[in-house]
Amino acid sequence: MIAVLKQGTDQQQIDSLIEWFHSQGLRTNLSQGDEVTIIGLIGDTTKVDADLVESLDIVESVKRITEPFKRANRKFHPDSTVVEVGDAKVKFGAGNFQIIAGPCSVESREQILTVARAVKAAGATLLRGGAFKPRTSPYDFQGMKAEGLELLLEAKKETGLPIVSELMSAENIPLFENVDVIQVGARNFQNFELLKELGELRKPILLKRGIAGTLKELLMSAEYIMAGGNDQIILCERGIRTYETATRNTLDISAVPMLHEMTHLPVIIDPSHATGMARLVEPMSLAAAACGADGLIIEVHNDPQHAKCDGAQSLTPEQFNVLATKVCKVREAVA
Ligand code: PEP
Ligand code: MN
Repeated sequence: MIAVLKQGTDQQQIDSLIEWFHSQGLRTNLSQGDEVTIIGLIGDTTKVDADLVESLDIVESVKRITEPFKRANRKFHPDSTVVEVGDAKVKFGAGNFQIIAGPCSVESREQILTVARAVKAAGATLLRGGAFKPRTSPYDFQGMKAEGLELLLEAKKETGLPIVSELMSAENIPLFENVDVIQVGARNFQNFELLKELGELRKPILLKRGIAGTLKELLMSAEYIMAGGNDQIILCERGIRTYETATRNTLDISAVPMLHEMTHLPVIIDPSHATGMARLVEPMSLAAAACGADGLIIEVHNDPQHAKCDGAQSLTPEQFNVLATKVCKVREAVA
């Protein structure tokens, strides 16, 4: 439930109303914008008499919020959140657009350094690389683990690009101390114990939508992280499972404008996992840029044919360079 206050309400009146809500066993979330002041009520609001609250002198209107996500909800936080990454404070959201690029998995020092240099030269602003890989088959390459993270850190040191890598288990959090953005993959998006642990960190989290996750479920997962006090979350649409088999997944491009209505958190698109095909990555990236996404995460490999993971959807550095140039043009065209 939210209470929108009348303009001109003074701080003392706001404080006493908040105190009254607290005495009803509720917690509050105060949002004071330039024009509107909103008190969000958290807890069991079923017993609150909305008519009584609305009848108060300082209250303009009262609305019951059916969505169970409160902290992620744009209704409580009308301004878009800007997530700042790393010492360079690379920004996502509120008009700030970034391209994360790099291989699916870190495979060797030479591979990650080559790709890091190439994607930086082409305009990527963050480097991705999986060190702990969630593979469907236990017999597939599982990632270089701690050694992979060390190599990513070396690439970060050389290029200055902040790094993004996937965490699968809370016990490995200490290894991620110098990783700038922790990725929660599609398979772990409802691993609530992991999400709770990430809520305790003060580090940006890239939260991917699960293959069968609704947008509401994605936001409830973000809410788990935010409930712990970490509100630095970048949401990622990476394709969902539908009856279509021509592509690896089905890119739900409407998730971008829809999530922008539902939440203040930045939303990026992963066209690589969404399509599974290198040739579809560019058109989907342009679509993402055109519909207002706050960024992209794209798989790039120096030798896709011999990649240990996801080679079919990986771009060469040259292809990535072309894509990055076109994305800039689309962003300018729709600005
Ligand atoms: C990845 O980014 O390499 C990955 C495994 O992504 P997803 O969790 O979206 O499948
Ligand atoms: Mn991958």
